[in-house]
Amino acid sequence: PEKIGGVPAGRIEAIRQREAEVFAARRPKTMAALASGAEAFLGGVPMLWMRDWPQPFPMLVSEARGALITDIDGNTLDDFCLGDTGSMFGHSPAPVAEAIAAQAARGLTYMLPTPDALEVGRLLREMFGPFVWQIATTASDANRFALRAARAVTGKPKILFFAACYHGAVDDAMVREVDGKTVARPGLVGQVVDLGVTSRVAEFNDLAGVEAALAHGDVAAVITEPVMTNSCMVLPDPGFHEGLRALTRKHGALLIIDETHTVSSGLGGYTRTHGLEPDMFVLGKPVAGGLPAAVWGMSEAVAARYRAYDAARPAGFSGIGTTLSANPLQFAAMRATLSEVMTAANYAHMEAGAARLASGLADAIQRHGAPWHVVRVGARVEFICQETPLRNGSESYTAHKPALEQALHSALVNRGCLIAPFHNMMLVSPATTDAQIDRLVAAFDAITAEMMA
Ligand code: PMP
Repeated sequence: PEKIGGVPAGRIEAIRQREAEVFAARRPKTMAALASGAEAFLGGVPMLWMRDWPQPFPMLVSEARGALITDIDGNTLDDFCLGDTGSMFGHSPAPVAEAIAAQAARGLTYMLPTPDALEVGRLLREMFGPFVWQIATTASDANRFALRAARAVTGKPKILFFAACYHGAVDDAMVREVDGKTVARPGLVGQVVDLGVTSRVAEFNDLAGVEAALAHGDVAAVITEPVMTNSCMVLPDPGFHEGLRALTRKHGALLIIDETHTVSSGLGGYTRTHGLEPDMFVLGKPVAGGLPAAVWGMSEAVAARYRAYDAARPAGFSGIGTTLSANPLQFAAMRATLSEVMTAANYAHMEAGAARLASGLADAIQRHGAPWHVVRVGARVEFICQETPLRNGSESYTAHKPALEQALHSALVNRGCLIAPFHNMMLVSPATTDAQIDRLVAAFDAITAEMMA
């Protein structure tokens, strides 16, 4: 019989169906509420991608605290998804919740800075390096603004992206190469611009490919995650980042590092823990403890070029915004996060827990002979339903096994463990306990045993 990731396809489907029934049976209130209130939304959900959870319908959450999440039927789960990184430091960390409450009574948005803003600037430099910062509200926005600034200062049109990368809702990044041409990925809604004009594509870990792309002389910047965390998980080869830095310098392209997920690596993110030297640095999601906020920074050299560019340009709209960005609530939350939540002690707890999780999962995989493997980047753990490590994003297209992963995720949810929906990502927060980790490992072990029996 056909196998997917080593598991008979028929068994996967049987498990999926069984788990969908269990999920529904435990959620009568949720079903009733959705039946009478979801029609106001396209597809019955406030963001269409919320349909992509593997369960038959989304949970309606009543509250989340620390590393626990509870739905309106009273089902409480150990949360290893943590808002896909937005709540990587736990749900509503006390210092952040208090800072938000205090600021909430003093105004929510002014289009003017606060004293907290100055302190956040100082903390960002202390944490991530001597960048010159701007604030945005989402990592998608921060990335788009960084790309715009890179094109502005270099005068070059194209950005080099790695195949299968993800940097948020950034149109230019939604590209792939077909027959030597850069084209939009299938599924990109409403796309009318030829992305071959804006973008080039290379494979991660392929320095020769990067050099060939840069040799055209039209690349303003290379943008990358230090580890590809959105295409399963692809680690950089030894020397890849050094090579990338050398090549971008040689060809006059800026290097933009998107740390939105890899900030799981430790204090100061992968950049600091591995000594990277980007020209621009982007971080969203957890930077304000889960309140929408993002930051993008330029090296002093790039900032000097931007100032010169800005002084010479005609007055007008910059294309960089947005109205509610850099609001006082964001600064209060970022200040609390940077000073009291992103601490060495918290990272040490997260790292130890993630190591426990990764080795527990790897043991289970080995015990049951599943052709899968586990990768960890600090507090972030991913299991991949393929035997060998991935070397680039394109390999992730075949490594990803949607049917198998959906059955597995559903079985984990019914055993009390929530992991990220679109791939097999798990995060360990400062609030996550060893008991929670051991429950996840035991649940994973049980379902893997059944699948591989
Ligand atoms: N950069 C990376 C590396 C991401 O993984 C994501 C989202 N998954 C983004 C940027 C975009 O973040 P947001 O959706 O919050 O804008």
